[in-house]
Amino acid sequence: MKSLQYFHTFHISANANEITEVKNLEQLKGAWIGAKAQNLPVLFLGQGSNMLFVEDFNGIVIINRLLGISHKQDDCFHYLHVNSGENWHNLVRYSLERGIGGLENLALIPGCAGSAPIQNIGAYGVEFKDVCHYVDVLDLATDKQFRLSTEECDFGYRESIFKHRYRHDHVIIAIGLKLSKNWQPVLEYGTLVNFDRERVTVKQIFDEVCHIRQSKLPNPDVFGNAGSFFKNPVISAKQFSELQKLNENLPHFPQPDGRVKLAAGWLIEQCNLKGFKIGGASVHKKQALVLINENNATGQDVVKLAHYIRQTVAEKFAVYLQPEVRFIGAEGEIDSEKAIA
Ligand SMILES: Cc1cc2nc3c(=O)[nH]c(=O)nc-3n(C[C@H](O)[C@H](O)[C@H](O)COP(=O)(O)OP(=O)(O)OC[C@H]3O[C@@H](n4cnc5c(N)ncnc54)[C@H](O)[C@@H]3O)c2cc1C
Repeated sequence: MKSLQYFHTFHISANANEITEVKNLEQLKGAWIGAKAQNLPVLFLGQGSNMLFVEDFNGIVIINRLLGISHKQDDCFHYLHVNSGENWHNLVRYSLERGIGGLENLALIPGCAGSAPIQNIGAYGVEFKDVCHYVDVLDLATDKQFRLSTEECDFGYRESIFKHRYRHDHVIIAIGLKLSKNWQPVLEYGTLVNFDRERVTVKQIFDEVCHIRQSKLPNPDVFGNAGSFFKNPVISAKQFSELQKLNENLPHFPQPDGRVKLAAGWLIEQCNLKGFKIGGASVHKKQALVLINENNATGQDVVKLAHYIRQTVAEKFAVYLQPEVRFIGAEGEIDSEKAIA
């Protein structure tokens, strides 16, 4: 067995039968065919920043290192074609260095560029879908490549077609971004609201986003974590108005479909769970939405902690939190909500 500890940001001590890094499509296909020949499950990994290994994985882990970025432009847009193993933050810096705006709010999100469409990464008012032009996919079972437009990706809040229809035997090999030359700053969140819309630069937003993230979020190299552990729950308008009667200051974000999004971190904080521990896992003291590997946590410690949080929040607010992080068991991905129910 090979250790996965340094291939994912939770740094849980879990193992896999084999770990293979691939730098081109031939290597990727070869690794997949090899696993199938041995009848072993396959797990694709970018930088492992959205993963929880709840036990050892009895299969082959394929680490995506397909690199390369190309840049084209016309009068109105910049077009970036990015191979899926590129580091997302390096891509944000690459665009900044070329004077291309549009990715600055998504600075410092860990992970590979090719993983960004999977949960439609988002931060500070911008989501991947806002900059996406296309996603290139390889169907490993048929060895056919195809391109999906933004509309075909079915993007939603931390959602896309890659979590459903293309979850098995499909791998994202590249993404295309389309960034307008008529750049407009997005300044609706956090301290970004303090900027003057007419004078702010892409670099100023990039620096501010990096500053906020570095001061708020634990560095995974110090305390292993996978960022926000839970999704922000979206509830009906009726349930929201009942909850608001009991909690005047309830932070909320009305959605286009009439439902209301709540802040999962706030709900956890109201249950006084900051710093709460089970085994080696704990709720981060500064940011309640982040669960950390404080002291050699096992995957099961994190599962038990997440279960406790879900139950406590449900008892107080009648809202059931769902994990944003993907859970991996012995044979592959497992139902994370069931695991903590
Ligand atoms: C400190 C921290 C902060 C974070 N902040 C944010 C944030 O602000 N916003 C946000 O949205 N997310 C955030 N995240 C979550 C994470 O960064 C994103 O989900 C990221 O896109 C995951 O990329 P990855 O390469 O690490 O994916 P991995 O964790 O390696 O993989 C995620 C899933 O995608 C699958 N997969 C990986 N590569 C491919 C591929 N090429 N083709 C098909 N399937 C594939 C894997 O099997 C797995 O199921 C944060 C995480 C951390 C640790």
